[in-house]
Amino acid sequence: GPLADEILQKRQKYLGPSLFHYYKKPLNIVEGKMQYLYDETGRRYLDAIAGIVTVSCGHCHPDVLNAITEQSKLLQHATTVYLHHAIADFAEALASKMPGNLKVVYFVNSGSEANELAMLMARVYTGNLGMIGLRNAYHGGTSGTIGLTGLGTWKYPIPQGNIHHVVNPDPYRGTFGSSPGGYAKDVQDHINYGTSGKVAGFIAETIQGAGGVVELAPGYLEMVYDIVRRAGGVCIADEVQTGFGRTGSHYWGFETQDVIPDIVTMAKGIGNGLPLGAVVTTPEIASVLAQKIQFNTFGGNPVCSAGGLAVLRVLDKEKRQAHCADVGSHILARLRSLKEERYENIGDVRGRGLMIGMDLTKDFKNKTPGTELAAEVFERLRDVGVLVGKGGLHGNVIRIKPPMCITKEDADFLVDAIDHVLATAKNR
Ligand code: PMP
Repeated sequence: GPLADEILQKRQKYLGPSLFHYYKKPLNIVEGKMQYLYDETGRRYLDAIAGIVTVSCGHCHPDVLNAITEQSKLLQHATTVYLHHAIADFAEALASKMPGNLKVVYFVNSGSEANELAMLMARVYTGNLGMIGLRNAYHGGTSGTIGLTGLGTWKYPIPQGNIHHVVNPDPYRGTFGSSPGGYAKDVQDHINYGTSGKVAGFIAETIQGAGGVVELAPGYLEMVYDIVRRAGGVCIADEVQTGFGRTGSHYWGFETQDVIPDIVTMAKGIGNGLPLGAVVTTPEIASVLAQKIQFNTFGGNPVCSAGGLAVLRVLDKEKRQAHCADVGSHILARLRSLKEERYENIGDVRGRGLMIGMDLTKDFKNKTPGTELAAEVFERLRDVGVLVGKGGLHGNVIRIKPPMCITKEDADFLVDAIDHVLATAKNR
């Protein structure tokens, strides 16, 4: 196949300059098998970021591959104006994974589309406009969701009207520490003073992903859901990264906070790499869209539905949620002992299951973000055959979110590599 330089030249010439790539010398990936990726020289890498938390079952998992291949031979597209069994079967299987009255499914093609639809539903259902989201959040890049995204990295003149960003309940770096009260009060203050007293909805990732794997202060969602509902709003859980058992302890991230949302959005891991997203809500909320046009040409197309159904089955059959808990706690424990025993630069190790963040600092007492150190660790891990992600407002959080089939041996290889790279890092 073509070499990295050739691809890069074409990319620079024909693709937009907003596309960024990982690594100073970009990596050319030609093949993926379960938890491993291969470059054009045949070199193998342990994939610990899964195409940004998307490859859930594993690259080219045989069951998913078989499902989409068989469906592709029969019918690739028709739209929902005709009946097709795949979308119905997939919706039934997905609804069976949801608690409470969350039983009505809409299929879309991405996380942004899912959040866009959730926001529309919240506004139509409540008749209010105000949306509350968290600072440091990522909810998408479309015209509506780009306003919800509170990551502070957007440089666009976006319409910010009716969107309020409240202080994110970050136990490590947050203004109010690890107890939820102060953060919840900020939500109440925004409702009291920033809106008419009524809101359409509240949206949060149940662990902030791109923002640097920030777990919400315990008890936060319970308090805030109550405040939001009293102000007439609905509560939306963005499960785009946290869903499908990745947290290990629970199938959905919101369950870690003991709440049941009114609307749940999902994408990424739902399709193991297929362009697929979904919104699940209650019959009552869904009913307000009944007489309105709500159409999505590709949403729930036969190939993606067949693939998505196979993903759900694989995750169950291979007991991936329990596996995430098992391998994830092993990685967390080992990283925590590196923090305690060897490296003051590791300010925080956090996350659940296979959704892990290592917050690097220059000065751990003041928690000064170790942006240069993180960049160095990120690059050098690639050199030793491990691909991780990087995130957080200051780019100082190493993100470990591998395919859910990573083994304990892989996990040890990963942590040993981190240990080695930190031991020899220039920017410590
Ligand atoms: N929500 C979350 C939590 C995400 O991480 C992302 C993507 N990084 C999105 C929504 C948007 O998804 P997409 O890129 O598929 O539009």
